Amino acid sequence: MTIAAPLPTRRAELLARLAEPRNWDLAVVGGGATGLGVALDAAARGLSVLLLESHDFAGGTSSRSTKLLHGGVRYLAQGNLTLVREALHERSTVLRNAPHLASPLSFVMPSYAWWQTPFYGLGLKLYDLLAGRAGLGPTTWLSRAQALAALPNLRAQGLRGGVQYWDAQFDDARLALALARTAARQGALLLNYCAVTQLVHAGGRVAGLRCRDTVSGREHEVQARCVVNATGVWVDALRQQGAAALGRVVPPMLSPSQGVHVVVDRSFLPGSHALLVPRTADGRVLFAVPWLGKLVLGTTDTPRQDLPREPQPLRAELDFILGEAGRYLARAPTPADVLSIWVGLRPLVRLDGAPEQATRRLSREHAVLLDPDGLVTVTGGKWTTYRAMAEDVLARCMHAGLLPHRPAGVSAGLTLEGAAALPDARPLQAAPGPHLYGADAAALGALPGAGHELAPGLSEAMVRFAARHEYALTVEDMLARRSRLLFLDAALAMALAPAVGQILQRETGLDPGVEAFVARAQDGLRWPAEPGA
Ligand SMILES: Cc1cc2nc3c(=O)[nH]c(=O)nc-3n(C[C@H](O)[C@H](O)[C@H](O)COP(=O)(O)OP(=O)(O)OC[C@H]3O[C@@H](n4cnc5c(N)ncnc54)[C@H](O)[C@@H]3O)c2cc1C
Repeated sequence: MTIAAPLPTRRAELLARLAEPRNWDLAVVGGGATGLGVALDAAARGLSVLLLESHDFAGGTSSRSTKLLHGGVRYLAQGNLTLVREALHERSTVLRNAPHLASPLSFVMPSYAWWQTPFYGLGLKLYDLLAGRAGLGPTTWLSRAQALAALPNLRAQGLRGGVQYWDAQFDDARLALALARTAARQGALLLNYCAVTQLVHAGGRVAGLRCRDTVSGREHEVQARCVVNATGVWVDALRQQGAAALGRVVPPMLSPSQGVHVVVDRSFLPGSHALLVPRTADGRVLFAVPWLGKLVLGTTDTPRQDLPREPQPLRAELDFILGEAGRYLARAPTPADVLSIWVGLRPLVRLDGAPEQATRRLSREHAVLLDPDGLVTVTGGKWTTYRAMAEDVLARCMHAGLLPHRPAGVSAGLTLEGAAALPDARPLQAAPGPHLYGADAAALGALPGAGHELAPGLSEAMVRFAARHEYALTVEDMLARRSRLLFLDAALAMALAPAVGQILQRETGLDPGVEAFVARAQDGLRWPAEPGA
């Protein structure tokens, strides 16, 4: 098998392409999972595609998920079997197309009441049935001794047994980058740090957009036959701006909520299994998931009306996560054990807010809306189903005559940049290292600084690779999303910022934003003083 050399992502060249006069088939606004999925699918079908992201790729919700590729045990409980089956199918598509960034993961649900093992066990047998050939392993019922062996720090008092089942996990930000790089390989032009400021209309129809390169401040106007708004929790801003330009008003279509995760040392749950509590004291789900050498605990679901770029956790959310973890772990983590905290905003679709004249597709928890001016908006859903969502969006655009018809299904068999079955492949729960680069590991190893480790699993060459081939401009791009160090150990990430900044600056010639990064990381680690503060 020949491995293609990684493409360069030199900003000056990307901006020069943006400035060329042309009419794109499709312009996608937003470089999270949803927008990147749409861009890749369209480019793979031979359409000319531009994608603009105001911050960094996956800088919004798409780097702040629980990092699970799952059918959704919650949807199973709700009886939404179609959604579960589709997500299980997409789970195996990601495992196949990005094996360096995703791997199966065994979950254990402990039982502390007699009915829990049969109740959850039967439900998960149905999960296995729905997965069919996409199944990753059979659900099994565990005795008390087996549950304790699988989850060594599990609270033993009152434990009766458990259920073990299979799902998968991934590196969300690196998968987003793999989507971006694969779309570029298919001919798409993608730019981060380029905010769409305005839709451009001609005869009452969307005909393009205006954008600002947020590094230089330079403005551009581009023409596109079809514009897709994939700006996550921020979709209403672009819809409302576009409608206002035509003297119309559109009601908001989202009611967002926030989810918090905390990261602690892996010793709180040694072994190779994740812990899932299907119903906590207040009826939520709690995960304790081994990921990249650490343990992720979460999550919460707190309604939130404002949409900050860097949402902060509430003290009550952190107390809830540590409190619930303490009910199930014999040695419980305390605030002093927390290495990192992250907060993501969920784009939850509001059925009542969708405009009547718009075409709605809400059956899969995501919505595709076609506004009267031809703007197509997609939001909601989940990471796992990004590809199915992209197919839905493009079907809608083609049906409305905004894009020429091209058959679907191309992306299902398209391997992503770096995909390769490598001899040193490791599961995602292993500590980070060059194996996460998959087939690009050889190109990485050939860069200056390949043998110079800045921290375990992070080399000087990785910073160079990020600047040359992964669109990285700032220290935050590098330490939050190319490497995941900020998510794994925020204090260590802060300590490394100056060294990483120096390398980046030499590579890009731009200010890498070291001070801003350190200030933000410090803020992110601060424990809120008061409950509810
Ligand atoms: C706490 C939490 C846990 C989750 N866990 C999971 C999980 O384990 N598995 C799973 O499958 N799903 C999970 N999800 C869901 C999943 O993360 C989201 O559905 C998905 O990331 C949404 O992607 P998106 O592209 O729609 O939004 P985003 O990732 O937010 O992307 C939107 C992008 O648009 C950009 N943007 C905004 N305005 C503009 C503009 N004017 N111009 C240009 N760009 C703009 C933003 O900067 C942003 O990058 C979770 C979600 C949350 C909140």
